[in-house]
Amino acid sequence: MTAQEKIEALRQELRQYNYEYYVLDKPQVDDYTFDQKLKELQEMEAKHPEFYDANSPTLRVGGEVTKNFATVKHEHRMYSLDNSYSQEDLEDWEKRIKKLVDGAVEYVCELKYDGASISLTYEEGVLVRAVTRGDGVQGDDVTNNVKTIRSVPLKLKGDFPAKFDIRGEIVLPLAGFAAMNAERVEAGDEPYSNPRNTASGSLKLQDSAEVAKRPLECLLYSIVGENLDIASQFESLEKARSWGFKVPEVAKKTASTAETFEFLNYWDEHRHDLPYETDGVVIKVNSFRQQEELGFTAKAPRWAMAYKFKTEQAETVLEKITYQV
Ligand code: NAD
Repeated sequence: MTAQEKIEALRQELRQYNYEYYVLDKPQVDDYTFDQKLKELQEMEAKHPEFYDANSPTLRVGGEVTKNFATVKHEHRMYSLDNSYSQEDLEDWEKRIKKLVDGAVEYVCELKYDGASISLTYEEGVLVRAVTRGDGVQGDDVTNNVKTIRSVPLKLKGDFPAKFDIRGEIVLPLAGFAAMNAERVEAGDEPYSNPRNTASGSLKLQDSAEVAKRPLECLLYSIVGENLDIASQFESLEKARSWGFKVPEVAKKTASTAETFEFLNYWDEHRHDLPYETDGVVIKVNSFRQQEELGFTAKAPRWAMAYKFKTEQAETVLEKITYQV
């Protein structure tokens, strides 16, 4: 197989995995396999820039819109995140950032919740729309389903901007997921495979009354819009909480990768005490001015980086090895 054929084959394979994961909510391979193939494609594309394709899975947000809901264009694009796998990767990222921005850089570390990405639009403090990430440019209008989630405020309190979007994650807490599965088993149905795909699949149900029966929650962590009068990520979490949103309990400011690693190692060990599934940490440049200076690539912000928990990487490798035996 030539390099070009190999690149094309990997692109095809990854597109199919994306479709099964995001549209059907039924992944056919584990995340480790997906991540390894994506990495392999990234490396091959870096070696062969002559085979550049703007539609490559390395350059595009993985999801799609479905036919079951009205399609809505996001006023502000929704991005994915770049991934890092080691302290060295994070240190390289920190170095790149320091070259690109002026002044000292402060970071905010948050947990990476494993759910379905959502964007909520509020006008004059009222929820007007809820849209899935889709392909990042446009998503599915799932407003009626999201309105059934009790932690999503339909009306805000306090001093909020006239119009803004707030992004976050629709998650299925582990206890709720276990209860749903117990009911299914009792009824003789096959249990759901994991909370993430069940949360995502629930959002796409046609009957909102069915969605209302599911114990979904919505955690919000990112505000976007014009003239927001917010200077940093940390401040935006505090403001969102004061307006009535459920924001993640855990967020910490750090000044360096070394400090970030203390947060990371702590949560790597303690994440199973949390009510939700998390698969890593997201590190964000705190200052919105610096975020603006850094901007975005085609797929992800330059000012944020995901880091998958070591145990998550290890557990998946272990599973893989067990399969091979
Ligand atoms: P991602 O899930 O790695 O990261 C981006 C997303 O993280 C954001 O869109 C947001 O929804 C979410 N997120 C959670 N907590 C956040 C926080 N605190 N701040 C900001 N964002 C936060 O990227 P992706 O492109 O959605 O998906 C890639 C993931 O999906 C990988 O883990 C990959 O293995 C998996 N995947 C698996 C398959 C498969 O077939 N197994 C297919 C496609 C993707």
